[in-house]
Amino acid sequence: MPFKKRRIKKSPNKNTERSQRNQESEPSLSQLFPGVGRLTLDLRYLGRQGEILEDEHVEYNPQDEVFLLVSCPGGCNDGQTNLEAKIGAMISQHQTTSEGRAKCAQQLFSSADICGCELVCRIQVDYAPS
Ligand SMILES: [Zn+2]
Repeated sequence: MPFKKRRIKKSPNKNTERSQRNQESEPSLSQLFPGVGRLTLDLRYLGRQGEILEDEHVEYNPQDEVFLLVSCPGGCNDGQTNLEAKIGAMISQHQTTSEGRAKCAQQLFSSADICGCELVCRIQVDYAPS
């Protein structure tokens, strides 16, 4: 069997890696958290001086794919907060609202400082009538 020359694949850059990962579809709200009729997230990122960097309001219905990994808009480039565990804990205690703050502790590029952006989130869970 003749040996075929393989084409050298271009090394994927960060973006294509990310989009490849996204080809696997995210779970829907009903798959991730059965019994939840609606999930509402108010996400706000504050900069180090308290300025608003990002302000987002998201609502998920049971059939919607949910994205619970929130990316930090600060200078760190890769800070992420995963809200899934927090929402799971709320649901196990049958809570409807929760507020939380989390500071990004990623180290900034070419600096010893940490990012310091703060995520302020308000989570509301509406349970589906059973
Ligand atoms: Zn950050």
